[in-house]
Amino acid sequence: MPDKAYGALAPPLYLSTTFERSADGSYPLGFEYARDDNPNRHDFEHAISEMEAGVDAAAFASGSAAIMTLFQALRPGDRVIVSHDCYYGVRQMLERVFVPWGLRVDLVDTTQLSALERALENPAKIIFVETPSNPLIRISDLTQITQLAHSHGALVVCDNTIATPELQRPFEHGVDVVVHSTTKYCSGHHDAMGGVLVAREHSAYWESIRFLQRLCGCVPSPFAAWLTSRDLTTLSLRVRAQGDTAFRLAQFLEAHPGIERVHHPSLPAHPDYEVARRQLRGPVALFSIQVRGGREEAMRVAANARVFKRATSFGGVESLIEHRASIEGPRSTTPPNLLRIAVGLEPFDALKADLDRSLVAPAE
Ligand SMILES: *Cc1c(COP(=O)(O)O)cnc(C)c1O
Repeated sequence: MPDKAYGALAPPLYLSTTFERSADGSYPLGFEYARDDNPNRHDFEHAISEMEAGVDAAAFASGSAAIMTLFQALRPGDRVIVSHDCYYGVRQMLERVFVPWGLRVDLVDTTQLSALERALENPAKIIFVETPSNPLIRISDLTQITQLAHSHGALVVCDNTIATPELQRPFEHGVDVVVHSTTKYCSGHHDAMGGVLVAREHSAYWESIRFLQRLCGCVPSPFAAWLTSRDLTTLSLRVRAQGDTAFRLAQFLEAHPGIERVHHPSLPAHPDYEVARRQLRGPVALFSIQVRGGREEAMRVAANARVFKRATSFGGVESLIEHRASIEGPRSTTPPNLLRIAVGLEPFDALKADLDRSLVAPAE
């Protein structure tokens, strides 16, 4: 909708930290102070909530701040069950911050329903599922997990960062809260940090999350919210194009003599291929490969890359290649010969040629 003052099509950026009060003490336009709410943040929250078909969304300064708030809204003594191969930063946050704070945490392989059943023999408040997971791109069955969780009085939170609402709709499977690191596909250009929580329905738990967002202030800047709102308008086109290229690259690599294994859930050899077919609406743009040989060979392949950039993160328009074990640190459980591949918007042929050359070329 064009703005009312000048008819501009792109929405204005509102930098004001404070908003005018009426003579009677009210705030007739609904905004008081920028930590509580800001028009750009408000627009972004509305847009992502619609895309996920939720009832409300709360934006944060990063994906980690969003996830922190999920756990802060619980009480010391509460128990949570978390996907054992979820984002490394989340496992660190639990171990270094929330376990000392009093949260009881069990890491469980959420692709195994029987493991989850055993874990639910003791009460839990939340099951935190990252699917697809990262870097092994495992798929957990959201319908089965939510049925089981709800019958045990637990809520299900799904980290939907990798699939995005274009490829996976967690609320259709009964999930209660969706998380995104919008730093990845939602913003999509490697230039805006952010995170968001989206609710399927209103609840006391959701009210605590909103309260903590406004009180503690881990909120995105107006500019980050403005950028990410704009980037959501191209999300579906980007993710479809990136995912299609990624799948073609995964097929090429699966047949390549320099590769031991390709982890992409749209390949029939993937252990979760059947769940992925039911749950995902298309191929994801993030996958990983295990290079024949070991750590040295994997490092050599990454070192040879030219079109792929050596950098962490994913979701942007530039393709990235990353040796995961060395960035995750000494306690990483990632295979040492694994490279994570985040496909951007470059042409398929250029990316394929780059990988082919990097795999066969000697060290420089
Ligand atoms: C990056 C990421 C996070 C953390 O988000 P930040 O924006 O980096 O704080 C959480 N979950 C997943 C799946 C991620 O990829």
